[in-house]
Amino acid sequence: MSSLKSCKSMREVKQVHAQMLKLGLFWNPYCVSNLIATCALSNWRNMDYASSVFGLIDDPGSFEFNTMIRGHVKEGDFETALQLFVEMLKSEVLPDNFTYPIVLKACAALCLLDLGMQIHGQLLKLAFHDDLYVQNSLINMYGKCGNISSSCAVFEEMEQRSVASWSALIAAHANLCMWWGCLEIFRNLMSEEDRRAEESILVSLLTACTHLGALDLGSSIHGYLMRNLSGLNVIVETSLIDMYIKCGSIKKGLALFNRMSMKNQHSYAVIIAGLAIHGHGHEALRLFSEMLEQGIEPDDVVYVGVLSACRHAGLVQEGLELFNKMKLKHQIQPTIQHYGCIIDLLGRASMFDEALDLIQRMPMTPNDVVWRSLLSAARDHHNLKVGEKALRNLVQLDSKNAGDYLMIANMYAQAQRWTDSAFARTMIPQKALDQVAGACFVEVKRKVYRFVSQDKSHSNWEDIYEMIHQMEWQLKFEGYIPDVSEVLHDVDVEEKRQNLRHHSQKLALAFAIIHTSQDTTIRIVRNIRMCRDCHIYTKFISVIYNREIIVRDRNRFHHFKDGACSCRDYW
Ligand SMILES: [Zn+2]
Ligand SMILES: [Zn+2]
Repeated sequence: MSSLKSCKSMREVKQVHAQMLKLGLFWNPYCVSNLIATCALSNWRNMDYASSVFGLIDDPGSFEFNTMIRGHVKEGDFETALQLFVEMLKSEVLPDNFTYPIVLKACAALCLLDLGMQIHGQLLKLAFHDDLYVQNSLINMYGKCGNISSSCAVFEEMEQRSVASWSALIAAHANLCMWWGCLEIFRNLMSEEDRRAEESILVSLLTACTHLGALDLGSSIHGYLMRNLSGLNVIVETSLIDMYIKCGSIKKGLALFNRMSMKNQHSYAVIIAGLAIHGHGHEALRLFSEMLEQGIEPDDVVYVGVLSACRHAGLVQEGLELFNKMKLKHQIQPTIQHYGCIIDLLGRASMFDEALDLIQRMPMTPNDVVWRSLLSAARDHHNLKVGEKALRNLVQLDSKNAGDYLMIANMYAQAQRWTDSAFARTMIPQKALDQVAGACFVEVKRKVYRFVSQDKSHSNWEDIYEMIHQMEWQLKFEGYIPDVSEVLHDVDVEEKRQNLRHHSQKLALAFAIIHTSQDTTIRIVRNIRMCRDCHIYTKFISVIYNREIIVRDRNRFHHFKDGACSCRDYW
């Protein structure tokens, strides 16, 4: 038996197998089980061989079935694993607490929620539902299948939890992009249990920080990784760079990138896309050339990055040239995303004829993103004709985005066409469009706070509103006039002012000013575009309170400093 354990390849296993047959050991159940385990579970496994040995046994038990199922899962062959599980049940071999975690893993990988739920039912009957591993697997399975409430329910019912339970719950939330939930769970983990966080938790959290703009928390995870791992691999390094950049710290992201000993296509893609959203178009193009010089081939993702760099920096000529280079030199077929970048670039430069011409020539049907970017360019350049055309197409595409109708309503309002504006607004309830609730996230002392417009849910909301009052007083003194042009209601100016005053970004600003020291940069992440008034307001605040304020909206970053913004008022 010891000779099986020392095997290092299938060739050696076959020799041992031959010996076993010679010595008549093959019919010893213990020996056969070990043979199957060696064939199925080693790193150099051979499932065909394992299956053929397995097929020779008369009455395989749960150990043999478990081994085979596990081997197939390791191999990534989840269908066969589940077939074997069904066979196991048919031959009346009882599954045990080792069987269920593997089978649930296969269900998770194939997103088979129904089967997963059936197995959950079976577990309850067989009373395996108290097993820690089984429970963790259930949390994971429900998470991967997108049924988060069941994940939480299993977690809640657990009498005992391990770090892996928390990890599974965080991963389940991350899988559905519920970043806010990830941080909440992490906070509970830290307060409830005095445990060291696992690497997998930290990586999920890093992604959550990236999405929520939680820079301080992100950097402390970086520190933790540095202290606890001897070296960071390219994947971890790249996700750290992504976190720093998307949390507004382009400097740290670049420094980390420059120190990387090995850069690959993905790290270049991340840094180029990062420079793009910060508006550093030329620097992005420089790194793109560097990448080509290093002999790293660009792919379509890298090209989305460079083209959007041109888009955010208004580099029309460069963008068009790169678009051609992509097709001709690198033989990459442009996707709708590439067309979207170029059409947006043209639209922003007010080159509407060229943009419409390109839409005509696209090989695919333009999607809502393309028309929406044209609509917003038309709004910025006050081109009602193009705006109307874009909206017509959005309606045809059955757009459910309330913002589209709000945008055209705005344009009509600016042109003082109140009836048309009102009509566009009535389209919203008619089409039962859901308006995305605008929210801002701001990090204060490693905790992320969420604000919505007119928010009064915070315990100290009165202080925040008092701060807003003070801020406004100073703003007026400096010559700030609220920009009501984007408020849609055809009502008197005073009411518009009321609505504007408590936009989520202003509440987040007030909160951050109260709770941070003068030299702290304020970082805000928002899920929708910034309105013009919040933009002007934030510029004023940056001078009056002498603060650097960095706001990330859906598309890019705004660095407010000394009364100016890095987007040069164009977003
Ligand atoms: Zn606003
Ligand atoms: Zn800006």
